[in-house]
Amino acid sequence: MSENKIPYKIYLEENELPTAWYNVRADMKNKPAPLLNPGTHEPMKAEELAPVFCEELIKQELDNDTAYFPIPEEILNFYKMYRPSPLIRAYFLEKKLGTPAKIYYKFEGNNTSGSHKLNSAIAQAYYAKKQGLKGVTTETGAGQWGTALSMACSYFDLDCKVYMVKVSYEQKPFRREVMRTYGASVTPSPSETTNIGRKILADHPGTTGSLGCAISEAVEVATSLEGYRYVLGSVLNQVLLHQSVIGLETKAALDKYGIMPDIIIGCAGGGSNLGGLMSPFMGEKLRGEADYRIIAVEPASCPSFTRGTYAYDFCDTGMVCPLAKMYTLGSGFIPSANHAGGLRYHGMSSILSQLYDDGLMEAVSVPQTAVFEAAEEFARVEGILPAPESSHAIRVAIDEALKCKETGEEKTIVFGLTGTGYFDMVAYEQFHDGTMTDYIPTDEELAESISKLPKF
Ligand SMILES: *Cc1c(COP(=O)(O)O)cnc(C)c1O
Repeated sequence: MSENKIPYKIYLEENELPTAWYNVRADMKNKPAPLLNPGTHEPMKAEELAPVFCEELIKQELDNDTAYFPIPEEILNFYKMYRPSPLIRAYFLEKKLGTPAKIYYKFEGNNTSGSHKLNSAIAQAYYAKKQGLKGVTTETGAGQWGTALSMACSYFDLDCKVYMVKVSYEQKPFRREVMRTYGASVTPSPSETTNIGRKILADHPGTTGSLGCAISEAVEVATSLEGYRYVLGSVLNQVLLHQSVIGLETKAALDKYGIMPDIIIGCAGGGSNLGGLMSPFMGEKLRGEADYRIIAVEPASCPSFTRGTYAYDFCDTGMVCPLAKMYTLGSGFIPSANHAGGLRYHGMSSILSQLYDDGLMEAVSVPQTAVFEAAEEFARVEGILPAPESSHAIRVAIDEALKCKETGEEKTIVFGLTGTGYFDMVAYEQFHDGTMTDYIPTDEELAESISKLPKF
């Protein structure tokens, strides 16, 4: 197809939308390691997970073999309200950089939650409703997941209790209000409402919280209330499965115009957007049909892949969740205040961890101010104000495009623009005022928290 026939925004037709999620585990030779029971160290069985998670989601979590899961019609219909999301050629950014590279981004910020998280929130709420539950509990860091889940729960008329990391709760009152608009209750974490919250507060007075703390609280509430389960917005296999809709749409849009990407880039917090974006491409790679460079971008302040250890660890601070094998900084690691709240988790998806360990993908970490430089450069030419999380991917997309400028290579780069940054203006303000810092943990700090990994 000639270059000038490729539109600025590639939208799929409704009948081209994916009707099944793709499970990349089916094509992995080395499967991700199973979740372990923290007491017995045996793989968690479905019955053991049932008090915490919804039944259907447990099946998806444990299934390493089924390649495609049909998307239920109710979820497909909901997707149609805001999907397909556009795949946009960043012509203006390319021009500004003077690069021969072709840059595309898949934009997931076109819904009220402002991020890709709604893709999994609606699926999880659907299965909770189908099971006849009253409601769900969850944690939220930056607030995107809590917002997405609140939207999904109000759609299916489910109660939604959100534990929001205290620092975000205080910094982002408007996110909290969006959640309440959708009927969710929002509690700053750690809180006095749970045993684990009281314990964490006693041990660390004045703490501003972390995702790991908030998860422990949300799990405690879910397991102590009749008719409630806990849901999680990233990290888990089921979440990557739902997010595969991003990658499937991207691949269909590229295929439609005969475009072959060379490099696929995504920011990585718990791994859900990157896992979803890269999954059909990784599938081809695993089956030996094509090859791509796939790059995870993480903040230098919370570098799970680039400075973490691949080991079994707790998913939460309270150590109530199953053990997961992943690249981790230790469940006690509390990253310094970094504005990319969605990238502050101490661990990483088991699927991505295994793929990274097998050398099938790369990872880089980037400091915060360099990320905001990229965010601003992008915002000024592409007309979207990006989320700080997404801007990690922009940073590396720009860096790769600038390498092409040096070598003259016309590489095709695809990155995930996971969301918008309207609720993150305090971070932008600090960047503009020059008060943003680039704290990077020392080797000693990381060694200290990694030394506390469970040993067995
Ligand atoms: C949550 C979030 C992320 C990071 O989470 P992943 O699970 O790694 O995708 C990235 N971008 C935005 C906008 C988010 O809300």
